[in-house]
Amino acid sequence: MATCYVRRRTGCYVCGSNFNLFACDRCLAIEYCGKDHQKHAQNSGLHTAECDAIHGARRDFQSATDAFKSFYGIDETELPNILSDSTVMSQYSNPHAIEYLNSLNLLAEVLIKLGSPAALRLAYEHVLEMHILDDMNSGLLESFMTAVLLFQGEDQLCFQYITFSQNTIHDDDYNDDDDMGPDYWSDHKETLLAGFSNQPSVLKQLSIPMDPYEGLTPKLGFPLLLIFFRWMEDLKNLENFRNVELHLTGRLNFDIARIIEKAIPQTDLVRKQFKTILRADIPELIKKLQARIEYTFLLVCMEESYIWHQLLESIENREITEPAVTPPTEVGDERNRASERRAVQLLWRSWAEIPSAVKYVREILPRAEKQIEGVQCRDTSWEAARDSDIALDALFYPLAKAGVWTFGNDV
Ligand SMILES: [Zn+2]
Ligand SMILES: [Zn+2]
Repeated sequence: MATCYVRRRTGCYVCGSNFNLFACDRCLAIEYCGKDHQKHAQNSGLHTAECDAIHGARRDFQSATDAFKSFYGIDETELPNILSDSTVMSQYSNPHAIEYLNSLNLLAEVLIKLGSPAALRLAYEHVLEMHILDDMNSGLLESFMTAVLLFQGEDQLCFQYITFSQNTIHDDDYNDDDDMGPDYWSDHKETLLAGFSNQPSVLKQLSIPMDPYEGLTPKLGFPLLLIFFRWMEDLKNLENFRNVELHLTGRLNFDIARIIEKAIPQTDLVRKQFKTILRADIPELIKKLQARIEYTFLLVCMEESYIWHQLLESIENREITEPAVTPPTEVGDERNRASERRAVQLLWRSWAEIPSAVKYVREILPRAEKQIEGVQCRDTSWEAARDSDIALDALFYPLAKAGVWTFGNDV
């Protein structure tokens, strides 16, 4: 059965107002500005299916939590300790732990798919909780976190999260002795969490190697490219605006031109660093971002190209066709693929919002697949893209000192 979710970015579910909001008392995941709009949503049945889904998921999660607590004879305050005990949470040792993890997963997923501000705030708390769990192996941890951050407009933080996770995963797979291996992850997990929940600038202190693209997984490459496309949109719009700016300021009131200019940026990066980016060589920035997109796309495509076919299919059908829960029978590669498909489900609407990105994927996919088949690994065009990539870093990282790469809220 196909499920269709609608994402709303603003306050009231019906009108978008941000005043006097109160939550739907059944699911807590959407808000209304007043009784009128609550009635309207109830009578029209607009919110019924998703309200049921979230209400059901929360009820299941609650009963799984209760069963878990009574199994160990613990209360609310002791729960976090149990959850961070890897022997208890091992997928194989305790059916209550599995039930707990699965229901937590599903609850986070339905909240993220709903995507309202209130739902995202709730989802964020659950996803943070997942980061505390050891042995949490749904394969969706990164997909959940990147989706929550992206939907909340935190693209810089999301970028940083991807970079951090990528390095951790990479070293976990290939180099157990390395400083950045699993121990590194567990040593820094609390710092990371503290960084996300209280003080985003803490992330800055984590050492991030300069090449975040080695062994990029589809699940992280997918949101990473979405971020790049969003930045690209903003840069192009800014450049178009600059081209007609003289005309506008000559004909219109100067203030109106400034208002239009300010209305363009949609992304966190461009909004916060508006002045710096306006002064930069935008066409050059666009060119380098294009090279970075191509390089990243090839990396993801080389790992798994079917993820892109899945994306295009979802956009064409305008619906989610996959089941919401990974069958527990799926193991190994199958399970991994299933969680990659779910990662696509979380983000396809955001891709659909950028037609130029969809067009790009449609056009480049057949070529990329042929190229990867033909050359197997890297050829000169890869190297060229890699050079541009470094050039882009060279452009962005000095800007970090000027404040372009700030993390979360500017302090
Ligand atoms: Zn309203
Ligand atoms: Zn509701």
